[in-house]
Amino acid sequence: MNEPLRQAPPVVHEPARHTPLFGRYDVVVLGGGPAGIAAATAAARHGASVLLAERYGFLGGMGTAAGVTNFCGLHANVHGEIRQVVHGVADDLLDRMRALGGLNEPHRVLGKINAQAYDMSAFKCAADQLLVSSGVHLLFHALAVGVTRGSTGRVDALLVETKSGRLAVQAGCFIDCSGDADLAQWAGVPTEKGDAAGRLMYPTLMFRVGNVDADRAGQAWHTIPQRMDAAQAAGEFTFPRRGAIVRPQKHPYEWRVNVTQMKNRDGSATDGTDAASLSAGELEGRRQIVDYLHFLRTKVPGFEEAYALDIAPQLGIRETRRLVGEAMLTADDVLRCADFDDTIGVNGWPLEQHVAGDVQWAWPPIPESRGFNQLPYRMLLPRRATAGGADNLLVAGRCASMTHEGQSAARVSGACFVMGQAAGTAAALALQRATSVHDIPIRDLQRRLVEQGAFLGHDETPS
Ligand SMILES: Cc1cc2nc3c(=O)[nH]c(=O)nc-3n(C[C@H](O)[C@H](O)[C@H](O)COP(=O)(O)OP(=O)(O)OC[C@H]3O[C@@H](n4cnc5c(N)ncnc54)[C@H](O)[C@@H]3O)c2cc1C
Repeated sequence: MNEPLRQAPPVVHEPARHTPLFGRYDVVVLGGGPAGIAAATAAARHGASVLLAERYGFLGGMGTAAGVTNFCGLHANVHGEIRQVVHGVADDLLDRMRALGGLNEPHRVLGKINAQAYDMSAFKCAADQLLVSSGVHLLFHALAVGVTRGSTGRVDALLVETKSGRLAVQAGCFIDCSGDADLAQWAGVPTEKGDAAGRLMYPTLMFRVGNVDADRAGQAWHTIPQRMDAAQAAGEFTFPRRGAIVRPQKHPYEWRVNVTQMKNRDGSATDGTDAASLSAGELEGRRQIVDYLHFLRTKVPGFEEAYALDIAPQLGIRETRRLVGEAMLTADDVLRCADFDDTIGVNGWPLEQHVAGDVQWAWPPIPESRGFNQLPYRMLLPRRATAGGADNLLVAGRCASMTHEGQSAARVSGACFVMGQAAGTAAALALQRATSVHDIPIRDLQRRLVEQGAFLGHDETPS
């Protein structure tokens, strides 16, 4: 039988099992992307014993596994002046990446904001250094598959499949940084996917090209979109989307290419929580890459001898499940640079929506506004256990509590570092006070974040 079963499939009964306990920790973090890196580091620095479980053999999340290789959201356009507004754990990571020679100087995006490209290997190695030196225990090659719940509305254990077999890890507090809200969903707390009609942002399979003649290529990122339009108008190529991002990396002969777009047969976005959709998306992504490489070689000066240096290990997923938590960050919050009493840090990235065939941007007023919104602690909090949530669970990163549009901004790395650092600090604080993550004193959390270098957005000048 070759076809996947779609509707009400018959089931296979597995025997009940006794799962070995791998260990007990104060805090277990699921996922080693920007949010998980910051969460684990912050919790460990506040004295918690921490395990981070990650399905791959390296850290970085989409930044490495999906070949993103570029930090957005570290900066904001503050009344026309571009400033770094995300600090704290992010600074420690950036310093280590810089020391490894793997960090570009920030570059301007659309004339309005900065981003910072990096070398993928430097991210992996710097993240290892950061977590190991902070005392975090790492369990790589551990695919989380479920949870057990205690009787009091608490998550009791995370279940992971490993090469040693299925294992359980227990913790006083869990932080879901899976990007897909896997843990939250298994715990039964409310999550949602997509916009009001269930539409997700479209994924991209990233790749890098090597052997670019940098002198001849020049600032090709300005001209490539017009060359694409011309090639498409001439009927020579059909591109999956407008809004190609083709930029040099640390070494000028190496460029990253963000141009593919994956959809299902019905035109809807490939779904990163659907195994069959993901499989088809990977195949389609590589097909598009072969086609686009041909375009670069034949139509863009300097790319004649370029080759695919690598294709990311997995499809880049922008959006799947998001927590429906105590507060949801909205598009309006981003566009009007909202303040929140329970701020944990800021987001300076605009709305960046990857819709069918295009990328749509929307910005707070520039230079009239300060260009960043605060992020509320409540966007990390599921509902309380008494309201169908959980009392020892936090959700940080691209699957935190945001609307579809709000997530299109705060999903980028900068805000994920902010959320992760706050979640790790809050988890340690809740355990120290033997209280629910809902009942920690917010001023104490904010004081600790500031002490650890975070900028909460209370004024317009980051420390
Ligand atoms: C194509 C593309 C281009 C992008 N471009 C940029 C950009 O230029 N700049 C920028 O800042 N952001 C960019 N983003 C967004 C950004 O990379 C992500 O939103 C960000 O990495 C999210 O961080 P996170 O920690 O929340 O989740 P992720 O980075 O998704 O990390 C989640 C981690 O959890 C692990 N995991 C997931 N499920 C399980 C499981 N069940 N068991 C074990 N481990 C699990 C994953 O392997 C992964 O390591 C881009 C995203 C995409 C897809």
